[in-house]
Amino acid sequence: MSNFTPSFLDQVLARTDLVELIARHVELKKSGSNMMGLCPFHHEKSPSFSVSADKQLYYCFGCGKGGGAFQFLMEHDGYSFPEAVEYLAEKAGLEIPQESASKPDDNKRRERALQWLSKVSEVYVRQLFAESGEMARTYLKRRKLPESIVRKYMLGYAPAGYGFMQRCFGEDVRVLAGLEAVGVTVKGDRGYIDRFRNRLMFPIRDRRGKVVGFGGRILADEQTAKYLNSPETDYFHKSDLLYGLSEHRDEIRKRKMLLVVEGYMDVLALAAHDLPIALAPLGTAIGENQLREIFRLHDQPVFCFDGDRAGRQAAWRALERMLPILKSEFAPRFLYLPEGEDPDSLVDKEGGDAFSHRILNDAQPVLQTWLTGLRNLAGKGADGRARMAKKAEAMLVSMTDDYLRQAWRQEAEKATRITLTHNETGGRRYDRTVSVKKRPVNIVQESFMVGLMQKPERLYDLPDDLKRINLDEEGLDRLYRRALDSIRSCGASEFNLIQQLKYEFPDDIYLAKWMNQAAVSDDEFASLIMDMQVAILKRDLTFEKDLSRNLKMQAALAELQKRQKVLRVKLEDSRWGDE
Ligand SMILES: [Zn+2]
Repeated sequence: MSNFTPSFLDQVLARTDLVELIARHVELKKSGSNMMGLCPFHHEKSPSFSVSADKQLYYCFGCGKGGGAFQFLMEHDGYSFPEAVEYLAEKAGLEIPQESASKPDDNKRRERALQWLSKVSEVYVRQLFAESGEMARTYLKRRKLPESIVRKYMLGYAPAGYGFMQRCFGEDVRVLAGLEAVGVTVKGDRGYIDRFRNRLMFPIRDRRGKVVGFGGRILADEQTAKYLNSPETDYFHKSDLLYGLSEHRDEIRKRKMLLVVEGYMDVLALAAHDLPIALAPLGTAIGENQLREIFRLHDQPVFCFDGDRAGRQAAWRALERMLPILKSEFAPRFLYLPEGEDPDSLVDKEGGDAFSHRILNDAQPVLQTWLTGLRNLAGKGADGRARMAKKAEAMLVSMTDDYLRQAWRQEAEKATRITLTHNETGGRRYDRTVSVKKRPVNIVQESFMVGLMQKPERLYDLPDDLKRINLDEEGLDRLYRRALDSIRSCGASEFNLIQQLKYEFPDDIYLAKWMNQAAVSDDEFASLIMDMQVAILKRDLTFEKDLSRNLKMQAALAELQKRQKVLRVKLEDSRWGDE
């Protein structure tokens, strides 16, 4: 499904009308031979976003974003390349060619899984409105969630007892295995039992709106977790998904308002008060990929937290996570609610208008949140100022936008009346092996990318810590993210990654350069991975203040370096052998 031939891609483009595609999001007016409108990628008051019907290209004279239909879906809606192609192909009524590559089953398996999840979701919905769902309905009434919202977001109910799925879908072994694979049943000693029992069910959708998993809220007072999510699968990555994304994307863009909240019920309560603009992570602290998604959607998101101690700590963690991807074009803000309130309870008390007033007026800019947080952490007096300066400096290191870093440093200097060390190259003082943007391209990271381009299936076996990091150089990182995205979304093993990326980034200098690189052997690639892991660990070590965790990391580092040495010897040997 992902091995698109150039002729297929051309067919898709030939049957796509870019003007129509864009006009769904942007109001376009004829101007000369082009159409013009307000750019959906940056804030502006007079139109500088042009779409050419002849060339089927868009270009913004303000921010420089431009491309064709695939790029638009990727930039605007966050689709991966295969997702964009599939979406447009489907729309044009084109059959997507089934690939002949080595793992064709992956796609089929994934499609089947999504079909199962959609069926299960419908069953849960029916149960909610059946007799057995009374308790769940009572709960929803108590939480004042109107039926229109319950239906729109397809909330459901998983009945009590262990054998509901089996009663519902029958005893066929393949069916039971299918249900287990999507995580709604668990295989035990006595057959398959239901994972979700007596829970209110929230279907969780991916960017395209397909159900990829569930969150279930317990209804009875049992000694179990309040919320239970589907297990991780290759389509359900908790750290990448946001509840409400596919439902709220358009409203967020239209109203230019995005609120990040903590729970599913917050998202829904706000929607019930005509604020369908909230997104929530899936029960975990917000991660870097989720933040990226958020900033792609809106450059001024508001992060909402409880005003108590725990809430302030959570806000601080979110801020720390945000630093590496923060840019001067972004203006995130932090909103603290009165202690003990969450958006759900507060919007119910004061209504939607008062709540949006709060969002507009009470949310404080990220810089202010940072300075206040630093001051609180450091304490009073001269030594407090010194501690604050130190902490500020340590945090500035993780910022990648040079101008923003300078601006923040100046603010921190004003606040502390201490001159901070001007380490323009960020992490250098802390760790020589981790370079930052301004340094020439990190050779290890570039070779790593070349290795990935040559054998995209290597993407599947990458260790998780590598998938989470950003490469130092922005251009390199952009390609890395897209590569990760495309395997995540299509699951196929053999595809021409370079060709796909070239479609996406036609002028990319790296891709041109990498076409004829010497082959990176598997051992060499393994060694590159280790080099990068060592660099990550070393960097993390400098930030890890918790002693026991710090010691654990040191042990892991030592182990890794030992293996690295062994591999290096092996590589040396094989090099001699070549001659
Ligand atoms: Zn623009």
